[in-house]
Amino acid sequence: MASTPHDTLPGPRAHVLLEANYRQLLDRLPNVAVLPWGATEAHNLHLPHGTDVIEAREVAEASAGRAADRGAKPVVLPAVPFGNNAQQQDQVATIHLSTATALALLRDIASSLMRQGIERLVIVNAHGGNDFKPLARDVRLDTGIFIAVIDFWRLRPDVLARIFADPGDHAGDLETSLLLHLCPDLVVLPQAGPGAARPWGIPALKQPGAWTPRPWSRVHPDTGSGNPAAATAAKGREYFVAITTALADLLVELSAADPAALAAEPSSRARAAPRGLS
Ligand SMILES: [Zn+2]
Repeated sequence: MASTPHDTLPGPRAHVLLEANYRQLLDRLPNVAVLPWGATEAHNLHLPHGTDVIEAREVAEASAGRAADRGAKPVVLPAVPFGNNAQQQDQVATIHLSTATALALLRDIASSLMRQGIERLVIVNAHGGNDFKPLARDVRLDTGIFIAVIDFWRLRPDVLARIFADPGDHAGDLETSLLLHLCPDLVVLPQAGPGAARPWGIPALKQPGAWTPRPWSRVHPDTGSGNPAAATAAKGREYFVAITTALADLLVELSAADPAALAAEPSSRARAAPRGLS
């Protein structure tokens, strides 16, 4: 059987930065960085606080592995463990990363990558409270890096709808099934609450186009949003395979893309210091 490009690098997984050694990285210089970004917070009473970090990391690593097998050059960075938890500050040991801090972190990561010739960055987000669009716009402008944002649960909505009657949006059927597939030892299903929501707020705010942050614990007494009772590892595996296949396709295309196709507009960095002249 012919070996794949991924197989030609012996040793640790070269597409995972925490495992790769410098020899491997020099032998196959990555050109796409993949940044898993989660949050550490209560997930009903049965899932680990690290659920979003586990999901982001596993989705990123599996997708990058599939892409590397097809000749792409991704590298998965260490996961960012904290996210925007502004409305969950009454929960035990829940660290809130403000938008200003997240922007500074993203800018430093992007700037470092650009100095090393890695000009493509994919954020794999696993926390609904994180909103990267305005951050990505600013960091793209400031650093010139090509940046894409993936909310993993929005991938393959067709598969999602087929597998899950009600996926839930926090520790429900989708997340519980995923964790049953990825790390069953960390799921204590008998402890789960129903993930029900209490009515809250003014009714006019429930119309499409209107939004306000939820006081999480008041609206979701067990912190869950969505019933996990029907979760199975098989459902989690099916969705995980579908989304990591889709994301691998994206990484393959992005890794192979012509730099000119990715340079949509001049960045402030490029205007301030044209490459080769500094
Ligand atoms: Zn979650």
